Amino acid sequence: MTPIFDGHNDFLLRLLREPARRETLWLTGEGKGHIDLPRCRAGGFAGGFFAIYIPSPVAFDNPDLEALMDNPPYGLPLPELIGVDSAAPVALAMAGHLMWMERTGTLSICRSVADIRAAMAAGRIAAVMHMEGAEAIGADLDALHVWHAAGLRSLGPVWSRPTVFGHGVPFRFPSDPDTGEGLTEAGKRLVRECNALKIMIDLSHMNERGFDDIARISDAPLVATHSNAHAVTPSARNLTDRQLAVIAERRGMVGLNYATVFLRADGRKSPFAGWDPILRHLDHLIGILGEDHVGLGSDFDGATVPSDIGDVAGNPRLLDALRAHGFGNELVEKIAWKNWLAVLERTWGG
Ligand code: ZN
Repeated sequence: MTPIFDGHNDFLLRLLREPARRETLWLTGEGKGHIDLPRCRAGGFAGGFFAIYIPSPVAFDNPDLEALMDNPPYGLPLPELIGVDSAAPVALAMAGHLMWMERTGTLSICRSVADIRAAMAAGRIAAVMHMEGAEAIGADLDALHVWHAAGLRSLGPVWSRPTVFGHGVPFRFPSDPDTGEGLTEAGKRLVRECNALKIMIDLSHMNERGFDDIARISDAPLVATHSNAHAVTPSARNLTDRQLAVIAERRGMVGLNYATVFLRADGRKSPFAGWDPILRHLDHLIGILGEDHVGLGSDFDGATVPSDIGDVAGNPRLLDALRAHGFGNELVEKIAWKNWLAVLERTWGG
């Protein structure tokens, strides 16, 4: 089976919400949500980025917002900034869950590509500790060093919400991503410090000016872990052709987001059957980025996904669809996992 290395999942959020049930949610699995260990094994899921994400007090799975996202045009307001004092304990709890997963012997928290290869060879899930929004880090950046020591190797300065570092892009359709100001002075220092520590910087959820600030300041490959093509789905969360060209020039990477709301040309959230929207995005992404700079970034356990994928066990069906679309085996392997390992090598070093 072709292994999958995935750019983004929100499984830790499920453990945060039901900590007492984590053995059932991860080890046993109960077929709910998108991810558990048995379904990872069934689908060849070898590893990927596990997000530490601080939920906003007003739940994003608010039914009113859900309904709004199925009726374009829409523009969701950006949630309020979450202070470091309330974010830090939540982030710690989520890291604690990831470390519990490691202690079960089923997963390794990887700090290098060698670690990822070793975990894959041993049949353990290869996890990259990722922070989606840097709310748990103060402007003095001391906590960044603590988190790095704890295994953090990837960070997005913002989710779709402001932080002391920058301004996230709102969920808005149709809209271009030029929705507000770029990085703050603290955000610029955060980028430089991530470069120094070799923490990958994630551009998904940045608005266009923040994206351009990072492109100008960062010396690392430019990576959007879970974003799609704006030319196919004109959501503010997707990347314009100009942004894709900048990522290509910087030998970076884009992970295909399975969220229906970023895949469907009409911007609706409802699930769809078949592969057409995914193939259109991948063809477009590859057309600009080339075959070495595109991968997968499922957003499992954080989004509504196409019904033919369903959950993490459905990834092999996606790969079959890519083969049926005419992608050769070499390209399928690159998209499935090899391109992620290569960009991490370019970012972290060997
Ligand atoms: Zn996200």
